[in-house]
Amino acid sequence: MSGSPLSPAEALDALAFSVEAGADEAIEETSVNRYDVETPRPKPLAATPPMRSAQTPLPATPTEPREPTPALSPLDDVRATAREQAQAAGDLESLRRVLESFEGCPLKATAMNLCLSDGNPKAKIMIVGEAPGADEDRQGKPFVGRAGQLLDKMIGAIGLDRDKVYITNLLFWRPPGNRTPTTAEVAACLPFVERQIELVAPEILVFAGGASAKALMNTGTGILKLRGRWTRYWHEGLPAPIPALPFLHPAYLLRQPAQKRAAWRDLLNLKAVIEGRETPGQPAAER
Ligand code: URA
Repeated sequence: MSGSPLSPAEALDALAFSVEAGADEAIEETSVNRYDVETPRPKPLAATPPMRSAQTPLPATPTEPREPTPALSPLDDVRATAREQAQAAGDLESLRRVLESFEGCPLKATAMNLCLSDGNPKAKIMIVGEAPGADEDRQGKPFVGRAGQLLDKMIGAIGLDRDKVYITNLLFWRPPGNRTPTTAEVAACLPFVERQIELVAPEILVFAGGASAKALMNTGTGILKLRGRWTRYWHEGLPAPIPALPFLHPAYLLRQPAQKRAAWRDLLNLKAVIEGRETPGQPAAER
């Protein structure tokens, strides 16, 4: 390439390195040096103690040594800011607007689109997946790629479609290269998932995949142990616990088709619960 500082072999190496690092598609014509771009600073801490003013002087002679106030970690900071902004949204439309200007999740800088939700906000069943992939990032809609097509078939098999469910993800921007979400990314997005649960108020929650199940159940247990076992999901602000079913992720089923049998059992159980023939948690044989 004339004028290029790289030889063809070096350019190929650089390309392979970028793909390894997760940059698996071109977004703009020319590359942007993100170190030169000014990123907006996060909002100040909601929980930062106020500065002492002239009206509140320090005691001249403290009588007893005080316990040091524990410092807030950057993660607490992210969580507090996200929670404050999520709680300010009174409906799903304003939640979307809040997320459009939310700067607490670094994934926003590399994603093409916000990918918040699909389906029916009045549905009785709410599915929470993991994170958008390349197709979802392009269209700004969850579960529209291969995993989404399988999800549609799975819910279709028990009489559901996107008019009968509300679908969201644990993360609202695509992690580069579809890598596993980091703790900080989950901390930034979780309050918005919780707020959606409050606003949609579903009768049944389905956690599709380990990332979603672990984050919402606050557990380190793997999805292969959790799947098919009903739990009662609750967070402060919800009037009552919601029956929740951890479920194998459709992308995992595409890679491990032998697991479809277990997923099918869980689907049949979900159908029975929806139809009132079984109660959540009633163990079917083998479950
Ligand atoms: N996988 C997910 O968890 N969510 C999507 O939206 C797409 C794939």
